[in-house]
Amino acid sequence: MMTHETRPTSLTLPISSREAFILSEVFYSIQGEGMLAGAPSAFIRYCGCNLRCRWCDTPGTSWSPSGRTWSLAEILDRLGTYPTRYAVVTGGEPFLFKNLALLTETLAAAGYHVTVETAGTEFQSIRCDLLSLSPKLAHSTPRDVEGGREAEMHEKRRLQLPVLRSLLRAHEYQLKFVIDAPGDIEEVEGILRDLDAGVPREKVLLMPQGTAREELEARSAWLHPLCLSKGFRFCPRLHIEMFGLRPGT
Ligand code: SF4
Repeated sequence: MMTHETRPTSLTLPISSREAFILSEVFYSIQGEGMLAGAPSAFIRYCGCNLRCRWCDTPGTSWSPSGRTWSLAEILDRLGTYPTRYAVVTGGEPFLFKNLALLTETLAAAGYHVTVETAGTEFQSIRCDLLSLSPKLAHSTPRDVEGGREAEMHEKRRLQLPVLRSLLRAHEYQLKFVIDAPGDIEEVEGILRDLDAGVPREKVLLMPQGTAREELEARSAWLHPLCLSKGFRFCPRLHIEMFGLRPGT
């Protein structure tokens, strides 16, 4: 069981702690995806994204952004009420925000293990223990949403190989792909070839697309054996299996 002693200690905030962070939510839940799946984690969700995935599971950060400003002190105070040392900075797209560096430095200095989740379209220097990189495949392009008005912008931005290479070089990482159909595996293989970054297959996570348990079950049925035959890691979405698609989980 997690004890109070496992929480990071408080620290003196830097002068720039007046910085305002635009966040959708700060909450405590289990990490549902990736190598730290199951870890009790404090989530800090930035509001704002430069992509518009067709199946976005956090539309409140992208298609219909809504959030408020938080101070660094307020974020740390909230995190201090959660019995965990795992902090996950997510979005939206955290790398769009210049104060991501300040946030990650502060969390690390306070003793948190810091994961940053990103689609990998923008670069800046940050501090993190695990970068969860999730480049978006072609099926994410919203050609059939709102008359396709965001499709061209999304398609142009979604895959930035030079940025991905820089991020892979800079951090311990996991490379996570949302899989919609069996044919997507060829696209993943193509990206790995084009990256030419020596990514070990066990660091490549394939996650079924779906925001409902039934969708996840249906796709998992063919994705499990595909992962086994190709040597990729299967990535569950525990938070959806356990809670459904709900804010704060
Ligand atoms: S990158 Fe993430 S937050 Fe942005 S639109 Fe896609 S799924 Fe939503």
